[in-house]
Amino acid sequence: MLYLSHPSSLEHDPRAQMPAHPDTPERLIAIEAALGEREWLGMERRLAPAASEAELELVHSRRLVDSIRELCLAGGGEIDADTYVGETSYRAALHAAGGACELARALLAGEDRVGFCAVRPSGHHAEPDRAMGFCLFDNVAVAAALAIDRLGAERVFILDWDVHHGNGTAEAFRHRADVLVINIHQSPLYPGTGAAEDFGSGEGRGFNVNLPVPPGSGEELWLSLLEHIAIPIGEEFDPDLVLVSAGFDAHRADPLANCNLEAASFAQMTCQVRDLAARVGAPFGAVLEGGYEPVSLVESLLATLAAMDGEGESVSAAPEAILTSRAAARVAPFWTL
Ligand SMILES: [Zn+2]
Repeated sequence: MLYLSHPSSLEHDPRAQMPAHPDTPERLIAIEAALGEREWLGMERRLAPAASEAELELVHSRRLVDSIRELCLAGGGEIDADTYVGETSYRAALHAAGGACELARALLAGEDRVGFCAVRPSGHHAEPDRAMGFCLFDNVAVAAALAIDRLGAERVFILDWDVHHGNGTAEAFRHRADVLVINIHQSPLYPGTGAAEDFGSGEGRGFNVNLPVPPGSGEELWLSLLEHIAIPIGEEFDPDLVLVSAGFDAHRADPLANCNLEAASFAQMTCQVRDLAARVGAPFGAVLEGGYEPVSLVESLLATLAAMDGEGESVSAAPEAILTSRAAARVAPFWTL
């Protein structure tokens, strides 16, 4: 199993402009301390290379790439009320996207069947022409686009289980039928996109699947949506590469959302995706997105990595949870939050 990271991820620190910002280098420091204590779980560690600007432009506009580079080189500043950069953030963002690209390249070259990329800043809110939501460039989207444009993949399946809707990834592939994007996310919640009725556009219609869950949802619903909706669609799609936008902020301890997953829930989701990848004969890579409470972030990631590496078995979830929860959502008082 591969593990990609880069020291520049620790240099991107939005607290320089916003002292209480939740996206801190300590998130990764906690992850790497835990992995170090466990001899990196036997994973092969690699340095994430920098993405080239040409690779970024497989997804992002020249204007966006230029504007982020120039803002960082000028010392940094505010992009929006959530998103801040410093002088070193551009370099961190290049290595974050480059790590995801290298993961896709190594997996499609057959160097391994499974790998995780733990980098910052995260990516899934960055739209083709707009950085937002802590994200500068969409790491997973750039890797998926690269896989198809340059690495010989015909179809890529992206599952985004971060608790926030991955609007950037959805927009990047909204019109494409060769990248299936499935999002499970809390709604209502930032960024407010990802309605169940949004299936993509034009040729991409049907290849963008949104599975919003109400605040308070736990693993019964998450696992049921994954097993009974996301996984069958992903299997029918028959991807050459499976990528997970792996945020861990649907954990019950996370301060930025209101879902109730446990570390073991992420292990179960991983088992489902791992087994799907095995059935279609595709390699499986995951890239870190959110997760803002260090203890649960570390526990959830460790559970995910163990399952990626083959530990545990898929346990079937009751399909009734989907219907029960939809009914519950309509009357739940927290629905209006
Ligand atoms: Zn998130």
